Amino acid sequence: MASQTQSLPEFRNEPMADFSVPVNRRAMEDALQHVRAQFGHEYDLLVGGQRIKTADKLKSVNPSHPSEVVGIHQKATPDLAARAVESAYDYFAQWGSTSPADRVRKVLTAGRLLREHKFEFDAWLVHEAGKTWPEAEADVSEAIDFCEYYAREMQRLSSPPPVFQLPGEKDEMRYFPLGVGVVIPPWNFPLAILVGMTIASLVTGNTVVIKPSSETPTVAAKFAELLLEAGFPDRSFCFLPGSGSAIGDLLVQHPKTRFIAFTGSRDVGLRINELAAKPQKGQRWIKRVIAEMGGKDAIIVDGDADLEKAVDGVAASAFGYQGQKCSACSRAIVDERVYDEFIDRLKKKAEALTVGPAEDPGNFMGPVISEGARRTILQYIDVGSKEGKPVTGGGPAPGDGYFIKPTIIADVKSGARIFQEEIFGPVLAVTKAKNFEHALQLANDSEYGLTGAVFSNTAEHLRQARERFFVGNLYLNRKCTGAMVGVHPFGGFNMSGTDSKGGGPDYLLLFLQAKSIAERVV
Ligand code: NAP
Repeated sequence: MASQTQSLPEFRNEPMADFSVPVNRRAMEDALQHVRAQFGHEYDLLVGGQRIKTADKLKSVNPSHPSEVVGIHQKATPDLAARAVESAYDYFAQWGSTSPADRVRKVLTAGRLLREHKFEFDAWLVHEAGKTWPEAEADVSEAIDFCEYYAREMQRLSSPPPVFQLPGEKDEMRYFPLGVGVVIPPWNFPLAILVGMTIASLVTGNTVVIKPSSETPTVAAKFAELLLEAGFPDRSFCFLPGSGSAIGDLLVQHPKTRFIAFTGSRDVGLRINELAAKPQKGQRWIKRVIAEMGGKDAIIVDGDADLEKAVDGVAASAFGYQGQKCSACSRAIVDERVYDEFIDRLKKKAEALTVGPAEDPGNFMGPVISEGARRTILQYIDVGSKEGKPVTGGGPAPGDGYFIKPTIIADVKSGARIFQEEIFGPVLAVTKAKNFEHALQLANDSEYGLTGAVFSNTAEHLRQARERFFVGNLYLNRKCTGAMVGVHPFGGFNMSGTDSKGGGPDYLLLFLQAKSIAERVV
């Protein structure tokens, strides 16, 4: 892969807008209005460069005001899904042979366009995903970071370091793209995760079929438009909204699919992994599965921890974006010496959090994503109330949106369902630990292993956590959410996924294959 590289400044994370600054606040209010004026618009599928409508439609709603339809989308049929993979396959040879420098330029343009339309994307996330302003801003900033970071990573990989030279040979190793990738993101980072997996696929020279989440297809449609504006050919990717249960298996099993980049729940990830492992008639490769899945993330609060910081860290991690982050803290494991005081303080903190429509910047928490999600979370609260001692919350919050009060359940034992199962809502289980060793055992008593944090002032305990807290992303004396691209490469252990470490130096290699070339020169 020869490439003419432009020299880029060192990667830096995108600064996040401060909405207490009047000019930013006004710009965001304008963007919310501007986006609201586009509610109910219909978006097309894009397959093989053609815009297509289907008979069946998919409507996305505003979870803060469910009677509002944010976008109307086409629902891909299995036939269209097969056509999408075929067309991406047909175009792969052309796209895969473009120069890395050209692809890097397009990716940087996409990043620039995202930056130029930042508040507009923020506003789509507020209205379609129920993100509060700062949560939306963090999502869009991360999407920009992925463009900037992967552009630089592709530059690095397009000139791999030399291999050792055998006397009489010219030896080298180069990276080549894989083929057609199917990108399947979740709704909870509807822009950042979609952008991360899509840009990683495209910048490495693969063509992609993007199957967005059915909860947030409008955010994805806006990004698909932006890809075209950035100069990506309309055949380098397909935009294919549709129900995962109707077209997911077909996309995964199609013999021309080369890899699947998935982020979502454990059960869907495992199904994809299983289906992808079975070769289909005419298939010529072992499919690669990059799957990032659920979490049951714990924060340990040690007996000598700074309790104020611990309470702030747990509250932000457990209730930020309504607990709907894979990295969210859903278990607090607290040393018995500070257990009662910690619960008292956390209860006060949780009860002071405001819950309501996401577009109102006065609210710390918005709605959960859907009526179905709300039902499941409320069922878990019922289960948890019998498994432990309810401390606060425990039901819906007022309003017509899908609001749930921040909920804390104490004295939860490790065998309890709410200790073991991912709830994906604002529900925190608190468990008492006899000492730090016991706390570590409890934290590791999970089939997941995504994020974790420890609040402690004992250096030896932090050292032990570094060695033995079995998670892909460990945080010490800080919250367990908010991973930054390039700083905290992200991915989990165990059933949390394939530990792909998005936003890190190993990630793009998952989208490439290496070719070793030796030429006899004497
Ligand atoms: P999900 O239900 O697993 O859905 C994820 C995606 O998979 C959606 O696009 C969905 O499409 C699609 N899908 C559903 N069934 C499918 C099938 N049979 N084959 C192929 N694709 C299929 O997860 P979610 O509710 O969107 O997201 C929440 C989950 O994601 C949580 O478990 C969370 O922990 C996890 N997550 C993990 C990370 C991480 O980095 N580890 C990051 C974010 C989220 P439809 O929408 O059409 O059903």
